[in-house]
Amino acid sequence: MRTSIVILLAILIAVQTTPAPAQGKKLPHIVILATGGTIAGSADSKTSVGYTSGAVTVDALIAAVPTLKDIARITGEQVSSIGSQDMCDSVWLKLAARANAVLAADTVDGVVITHGTDTMEETAYFLQLVVKSKKPVVLTGSMRPSTALSADGPLNIYNAVAIASDPAAAGRGVLVAANDDIHSARDITKMNTTDVQTFDSPEYGLVGTTLYGKQTFFRTAYRKHTVNSEFSVTDVKSLPRVDVLYANSDMSADLIDAAVKLGAKGIVIAGVGDGNMTTPALDALSRAVKAGVVCVRSSRLPSGRTWRNSEVNDDKMGFVAAGELNPSKSRILLKLALMKTKDAAQVQKYFEEY
Ligand code: GLU
Repeated sequence: MRTSIVILLAILIAVQTTPAPAQGKKLPHIVILATGGTIAGSADSKTSVGYTSGAVTVDALIAAVPTLKDIARITGEQVSSIGSQDMCDSVWLKLAARANAVLAADTVDGVVITHGTDTMEETAYFLQLVVKSKKPVVLTGSMRPSTALSADGPLNIYNAVAIASDPAAAGRGVLVAANDDIHSARDITKMNTTDVQTFDSPEYGLVGTTLYGKQTFFRTAYRKHTVNSEFSVTDVKSLPRVDVLYANSDMSADLIDAAVKLGAKGIVIAGVGDGNMTTPALDALSRAVKAGVVCVRSSRLPSGRTWRNSEVNDDKMGFVAAGELNPSKSRILLKLALMKTKDAAQVQKYFEEY
C-alpha cells in the first residue's frame, strides 16, 4: 500500500516537472532555390568518376533528407539545372531577383541556394553585393554526386537549412556551408579539384562551424554587404563585359588588345605574385586604360592581397589594385562598379569598401 502511494506520488511529480511541449511554435520557413551542380548530380554507379551535374530536381534533393522537416518548413524552387561551370549573368540576375523576392516576404525566414562548387564563390559574392535583406542566405553544394557512396550533399543541405533558420546567422552577409564549415561569401575560395574538403577562406578564416545542424559563429563579414551595399540589379537585364586574363612568364600583350577590341568594359589581370605581369602586358593594359577600359590588377595566387603601388605604379598607370579579391571576384565587383562609374579612383574605393 505504502509502496503504491510512493509510486503514485512519483508519477504526479514527474508529470508536473516534465516541460510542456513547445506547442504552437512554428518552424522557420526556408526557401531552397536550386541551381544544379554536383549536389544534384547523377552517376551510373555509386563509384563512377563521370556524372551529369544538375540532373536531380529540388524536390528529390529535399526528399533525400527527411529530417529537414524536423527543423524547418521547406519550399523548393528550381531556378536552373546547370553545372556551375555554366553559371552566367542571366542566371545570376534571375537568382538575385528570386532571392530578393522571397526574402521580402514576411512568411520567409531564410534562403538556401544549392549550387555547383566550381563557381559557388562567385555566385555567393555576387549575391552578397546585390541581395537586399538581413535574413540568412546560405549557399551549399557537394563534391560527390547524389548517387555516390558517402555523398556529402544531404548533410550539407541539412546544415545549410539549420544555418538559414538560425537568427544568429542574420546580418552576416551571404554564407557558404560546406563540410561542417561556414564561410563568408567574400573570403571563400575553392582549393581542390575533387576533395570533399575543398573550400578555404585563406585570408580571413571561417565565419563559423556547424555539426549536424548546430552552429557556432566566430565573426561577421568585415566589408559592406547586402542591405549596406549600394549595388542593385533590380530591373537590370545584362551586366557589362569584364574579361579575366591569366598572367605567366612571357605573357603577351595580344589578348589584352583583343579584349579591348571585343568590347570589354573592364579587364582583370590574374597577375603573377603581387599582381605583376610582363612589360609588354603592362604597356597593353596602359593602352586599354587610355581607351576607357577600367583595369584591375589581381593575383593568380590563392592567398595574400594585391597591394596598390607596389611594383606597379597604379597612380601613374590608372590601374585599380584588387586587395584580397581574387580574379573571379574582382570581375564581379568590377561588373557592378562599371554600372555606376568608369572612374578608376572610384572603382578603387569600391575595392576597399566591398
Ligand atoms: N562542375 C560541377 C559544378 O560546379 C562540379 C563541382 C561540384 O558541384 O562539386 O557544378
